[in-house]
Amino acid sequence: MNLARFPARRCFTATGFCLYNHKILLVKHQKLKIWLAPGGHLDVNELPHQAAVREVFEETGLKVKAVSASPLLPTSASQNLPLPFSLNLHWISPANYRLRLASPDPHRPHRTSTWPLGCEQHLSFNYLVKPLGSVRLRPNPTETDAIAWFKPQQLTSLDTLPDIRQELRRVFQSGHHL
Ligand SMILES: [Zn+2]
Repeated sequence: MNLARFPARRCFTATGFCLYNHKILLVKHQKLKIWLAPGGHLDVNELPHQAAVREVFEETGLKVKAVSASPLLPTSASQNLPLPFSLNLHWISPANYRLRLASPDPHRPHRTSTWPLGCEQHLSFNYLVKPLGSVRLRPNPTETDAIAWFKPQQLTSLDTLPDIRQELRRVFQSGHHL
């Protein structure tokens, strides 16, 4: 699907996929009511991998670090940042996508979103992250409806979107990096 062809209002977001003990850390989204990895909008001046680390902490209480999805070139006067394992562009909600397609000209910029920031699409920097210390979860009811660890075999029946299920499977496959 080519979402990039729409002149949508876009936000940058970051997500942290945390594997530990052959389980993955997921949160139940308050608005979408589905399970996904913790994440959210980048703050002003924040780097994408920093946002992923912050969001994991805010939503689950876990201190993590971002792990580069492939090796970084050494530098002297600059810095190579951890690489995300994917850069995913998506409509912020299925309703938003349907509204867009139902409009007379789906390619014309227009205001459809009722979300606070008015964004229509999110470009998500998806990082593998690794716990730095304790893996005891600290639920934050202002951020998520629930948090839990899931085994690979639980993904099939997980209440989520097909693309997210696919993403989670890939993270389990690449778990040997961690
Ligand atoms: Zn947004």
